[in-house]
Amino acid sequence: MRLRVFSGTRATGRLHLGNYLGAIKGYIELQNDPQYECLYMAVDVHTITTPYDPKTLAVATRNIILDYLAAGLDPQKAIITKQSLIPEHTELAFLFASVVSVARMQHLPTYKDKIKQFPEHVTMALLNYPVLMAADILIYQASLVPCGLDQEPHLEITREIARKMNQLYGTTFPEVQRFTTPTASVPSLIGEGKMSKSIEGSYLNLTDSLETIEARLAAAPTDSGQGKVVPATGGVANLLTFVEIFEGQAKRQSYEHAYTTTGISYQALKRDLAKAIYQDLAPIREKHRTLTAKPHLVDEVIHQGAKRARALAQSTLHEVKEKMGFV
Ligand code: ADP
Repeated sequence: MRLRVFSGTRATGRLHLGNYLGAIKGYIELQNDPQYECLYMAVDVHTITTPYDPKTLAVATRNIILDYLAAGLDPQKAIITKQSLIPEHTELAFLFASVVSVARMQHLPTYKDKIKQFPEHVTMALLNYPVLMAADILIYQASLVPCGLDQEPHLEITREIARKMNQLYGTTFPEVQRFTTPTASVPSLIGEGKMSKSIEGSYLNLTDSLETIEARLAAAPTDSGQGKVVPATGGVANLLTFVEIFEGQAKRQSYEHAYTTTGISYQALKRDLAKAIYQDLAPIREKHRTLTAKPHLVDEVIHQGAKRARALAQSTLHEVKEKMGFV
């Protein structure tokens, strides 16, 4: 059997640069390596763990798949679909919930962040998020997960569940590893934290116009442009990270030199950076336009992907239920 790879994106908005650089680039690298069998999903069931709009969920989910395809995911090489079409994920998650303590889940940093962000929506679904994620991965016996650094605490839970299940019931779930891209943590545009679609102003979408990119960069916080030491954190540091990603290390170094000598003009820096980002994303915009004009293609990918994924998921769930004594 080829080694399996699983990853997913919540349907809370369009894909942004953080998703692309931190996760999708890894998805693409692995789908192109024939030693792996890859499954990539819009994980729409995870979307309901924080407040969401039922009227737009289906469209947002479809848009994630559209963005996946525009960014270079290939249904000939990977199984691409949406999680809710494979109800076995949620069934396995309930079985997994029997081997995790409530205290362990309450102590996760990601859970603590989310309850601060949404104090009125501290639900069982939110607490269970990492258990469902473990089921998403382990139902395919996947051992590799291309994702950003922010997901590491969840992968640790996945490992703990796999070990516990193997120990208690004799299942043979693998030990998952994170697959890293060179940009595993893409910073926010607003100076602090990571780029995230749930933090307004923090992100750039993959199909943003040049005007939108310019406007978002214009709002990024800076300083006077001159000083003894180049800041290591905050708005300026983040802008320099983007310069390095999109314009290269030499350009970053020239700005760093300017900072400690003549000073930086942030207006010019942001204008050039916006252009570089816009140009880099041109092939994705082009593909997105083509796919938008052929909606049946996206629906076909989702439908075919679900059929293939479901057969794999059913086989694992059956084995688990047998070992847990249901059969
Ligand atoms: P968001 O936080 O924007 O809602 P998701 O939780 O849907 O993003 O994450 C989808 C994938 O993108 C995950 O693999 C996650 O690790 C990755 N990712 C999200 N934000 C970033 C970021 N700022 N830097 C690197 N990777 C990220």
